[in-house]
Amino acid sequence: MRLVTFQRVGNSGAFDESAPVMPLFGIGAPMRGQESGDGLFSFFGEEVGILSKDGTKILPIANTGISYPDMNTLIAEHNPQEMEVLRAAAEAMEASGGFTEDSEETVDTDYLAVGTQAKILSPIPVPLQDVICLGLNYTEHAEEAAVYAKDSFTARDRYPVYFAKRVNRSPADGDPVPAYADLVDSLDYEAELAVIIGKDVKNITPEEVPECIFGYTILNDFSARNLQTRHTQWYLGKSLDGYTPMGPCIVTADEFSFPPRLKISSRVNGELRQDSMTDMLIFGIDYIIADLSRGMTLRAGTIISTGTPKGVGMGFDPPKFLHAGDTVTCEIEGIGTLTNTISD
Ligand code: MG
Repeated sequence: MRLVTFQRVGNSGAFDESAPVMPLFGIGAPMRGQESGDGLFSFFGEEVGILSKDGTKILPIANTGISYPDMNTLIAEHNPQEMEVLRAAAEAMEASGGFTEDSEETVDTDYLAVGTQAKILSPIPVPLQDVICLGLNYTEHAEEAAVYAKDSFTARDRYPVYFAKRVNRSPADGDPVPAYADLVDSLDYEAELAVIIGKDVKNITPEEVPECIFGYTILNDFSARNLQTRHTQWYLGKSLDGYTPMGPCIVTADEFSFPPRLKISSRVNGELRQDSMTDMLIFGIDYIIADLSRGMTLRAGTIISTGTPKGVGMGFDPPKFLHAGDTVTCEIEGIGTLTNTISD
């Protein structure tokens, strides 16, 4: 099942024009507060829905009788019975076929047309905590990074490189990513498989990891290499506003075998840059999550980004960094594509 966070657009109802406009960090469209039907107040007008496999329509989960104000709450509080209801609704949506031009005009459909009636947001627009990231977790990427800046990218063989990434608000598929040209001279992309934890866990074994995973999404770990390498820690260079787009959806863990063996790639202005498989990680998902959970509670909704394969901009000679106007598309088989254009 593919879960999305979305916002209604156009004349599809439930949009409070009188609510204050909330521009956030200059990213994306202004947003308004919204009173949802069950009395819950969804501050950004965000709702959770099920995305059809072809990506053309959304079933708001509220239409199934299940109501959560946002994805973080659904992840933390869902129960297996509710997930079964949602899965059945997802299957019914697939069986109902695609939108016709005529049906988009029909007011009483259960489904919203992506684009004309609903804008897909990042699946977790405001993460509860910093994203936990893996550095140098694909062999050939670790090698290209060490060639670029040996002092900043030296891996130790036996232990994973963990670092954190602040995400004030995650841009969606299609949203711009700021260039910060006065601050950043070496903006880079990193296509990654992100894992979302589905329940609070501590001290779990690698064997227990699959049952604690809620799902997977695509994360582009945008990085300012000049900021990343001039400070001892990578935090600042990874954490500028807009540097962590995710999307387009969360695919629930039951859709993939474990560990997921999926093609992962990135393209810049159509040129293939990264091209690998998600099971090529040096430290696998079962190891990473069990390791992190030793002594540290991983809360439901925690996002762990598993690292990027070779082919980032700093790996080329000369480097191929991003500039305003460049478009990056990350793709993971079975999840979709995440496309962002660099803005001024
Ligand atoms: Mg990364």
